[in-house]
Amino acid sequence: MKSAWHLGRIAGIDIKVHFTFVFILIWFGLSAYLTGGSIAVALTNVLLILALFLCVVLHEFGHALTARLFGIQTKDITLLPIGGVARLESMPEDPKEELLVAIAGPAVNMVIAGGLFTGLLLSGFFNQPLNLTSLLSSFWLQILIANVTLVLFNLIPAFPMDGGRVLRSFMALFMDHTKATRIAAHIGRGLAVLMGIAGFFINPWLILTAVFVWVGAGAEAQSVELKAGLKGLFVRDAMVSQFYQVEANQPLSEVLQLATATGQAHIPVVSNGNFLGIIRRNDLHRAIDRLGNRAPAYAAIGTEPEGLHPEMPLMDVLPKFANHRVLPVLEGRQLIGLVTPESLQQRMWLNQRLGGTKSRPTGESTDIA
Ligand SMILES: [Zn+2]
Repeated sequence: MKSAWHLGRIAGIDIKVHFTFVFILIWFGLSAYLTGGSIAVALTNVLLILALFLCVVLHEFGHALTARLFGIQTKDITLLPIGGVARLESMPEDPKEELLVAIAGPAVNMVIAGGLFTGLLLSGFFNQPLNLTSLLSSFWLQILIANVTLVLFNLIPAFPMDGGRVLRSFMALFMDHTKATRIAAHIGRGLAVLMGIAGFFINPWLILTAVFVWVGAGAEAQSVELKAGLKGLFVRDAMVSQFYQVEANQPLSEVLQLATATGQAHIPVVSNGNFLGIIRRNDLHRAIDRLGNRAPAYAAIGTEPEGLHPEMPLMDVLPKFANHRVLPVLEGRQLIGLVTPESLQQRMWLNQRLGGTKSRPTGESTDIA
């Protein structure tokens, strides 16, 4: 997240805070001050928010460190105004392990709440005459209540919130992981709608959370489907193996003619059978403008992505499309195919029609605390 500040690094995990978090602090401090509170009350309010977010960070560490037990690293933990997000590099394949990772976050808040309750009990807090004002003004009691609320809120089975993850992993014990995700995402989206409506009456924060759940459920379901579609497939399966290519010293005018006549958007350039690079359509137009159409083909080659090995799993290819629209497949220095998002999509479609393969849970995990 680019709009987040780096706070520090604990146990090898970067901790970041979204810049909007500052507004929350100012807002809580100012509103307490303006509604007749003293500076001390305003500061207490700010301190309360900071303490709450510390509890959220600990919650996220619950997820992150449990995931580490199963060999999964966490990229970072980010504090957002609606909670925390731990970006695990994947989710455990075993539903039982996923269940433990999901439950570890709320468990941390249960421990904090239990500790605070014991502390308050021992200090005789509950023995004094209790009235609403003294209860509400107790700093530690407010943190205790907030932790209990965090636990209860997170147990709502709205995937991708913790409760939803618990539900998904529980269902995955009895059915295919993709199917379990699909069902959990539907339930999550249904609950998001209810949450959004309830937000209008109870608390506007709920609306924000509802949007987060709605978007998150959709994205996770999509990523699981995508990975299920690519499972068991290799670069060789999705590459275009029939294409036109040009020799390094052929003039750009001929490359343009070839591109126009064949409709092929990316033209590979070879020299004595060795792959040199690819001329993309935009690069071709630019090179002709700049160098004239008699310049040799190799002058129009753009920045080249590294070649793919034909036996590379397709799942590993996905991130490479972030920077390149076409990827060359090489056997030694010889070009044997091209992979594009379209060719990949085509192959996935075919795979689904020919009977899908079983999936396993992978992918990035975000989390609302
Ligand atoms: Zn959580």
